[in-house]
Amino acid sequence: MPTYDFRCRGCGHRFTVRVDIKDRHKVTCPSCGGKEVEQLFTGCTVRTGGGACDLPSPGGGFAGG
Ligand SMILES: [Zn+2]
Repeated sequence: MPTYDFRCRGCGHRFTVRVDIKDRHKVTCPSCGGKEVEQLFTGCTVRTGGGACDLPSPGGGFAGG
């Protein structure tokens, strides 16, 4: 069964769950139990002739607020 990355809209917690794609809407945040989670697509794959991937800065926060 594949794993998917999610981020909680409530607390911002990022987590990975192993769930069938058809059940991904049942995923809840393991940190706060919130149901408002969004799936993250980390489509950073290495391909021949490709360039560098843009990775999010570690520990980076959100601007503004
Ligand atoms: Zn949460």
